[in-house]
Amino acid sequence: MKALIAFGLLGLTSHAMASCELTIDSNDAMQYDRKEMTAGADCSEITVTLNHTGTLAANVMGHNWVLVRTDDMQAMLNDAWAAGLEQQYLPADDARVLAATDLIGGGGSTSVSFDRSLIKDGESYSFVCTFPGHFAVMQGRFTLN
Ligand code: ZN
Repeated sequence: MKALIAFGLLGLTSHAMASCELTIDSNDAMQYDRKEMTAGADCSEITVTLNHTGTLAANVMGHNWVLVRTDDMQAMLNDAWAAGLEQQYLPADDARVLAATDLIGGGGSTSVSFDRSLIKDGESYSFVCTFPGHFAVMQGRFTLN
């Protein structure tokens, strides 16, 4: 009986932690390791950590994690590519960029925290890598549960 209770508490704790702090991996094959990320609707702040498990440099196979309304994604990406590597493929002071990590190369790790209130009911949100060409594969849905 004791063991069951302890197990139940551990389960709750790890669930609560996982839902406000999310991790996603990326690699030299131009891939994220997931197509969907879900954070807890009861989080006040959400933190996403991006790892790059490859070895290629950021100017060759750089990855970032950018949160955007799905409807804004294509237009935001056009401006991100225009911004260029010097600006880490992100348009400056752009309200469409809801949250963004640094652009990292192989072996790197970076994270970003943002307010849960950025996510509005009834809107569709996506995460995407803004390195030119990567969005075709490196994107997914971001939701709250
Ligand atoms: Zn990328």
